[in-house]
Amino acid sequence: MTDCLFCKIVSGDVPAKMVRSSDRAVAFRDINPQAPTHVLVIPKDHHPTVGELAAADAELLAEVLREAHQVAVDEGVSDTGYRIVFNTGAQAGQTVFHVHAHVLGGRGLNWPPG
Ligand code: IMP
Repeated sequence: MTDCLFCKIVSGDVPAKMVRSSDRAVAFRDINPQAPTHVLVIPKDHHPTVGELAAADAELLAEVLREAHQVAVDEGVSDTGYRIVFNTGAQAGQTVFHVHAHVLGGRGLNWPPG
């Protein structure tokens, strides 16, 4: 999608601090980190929400989750604990409608979230 910020990160038209890349997904640092580790993992293909991705391409969603876990391992937070969050819909805080997994770790994370 030409007007999608995260599609532009995939294409390289918008710079990002890349963390890792697989065949069909990329991971990059959130521009406004909410924890010592705050990485976004996205599919290279455009899908607006996690529900739409699950319906269209469940294997791609699985790849996003595998990549998110590998980010946690690489960042050294997989043993202490980390959180994978898909904000879905405006009321839940989704601001970029290209599905993304937030990988958060490196500090205590409260429950329930705000
Ligand atoms: P959402 O609110 O769940 O949709 O998450 C969108 C996330 O994208 C936010 O945490 C933003 O800080 C992050 N973000 C927005 N623009 C950029 C960017 O250009 N690079 C990296 N992260 C971004």
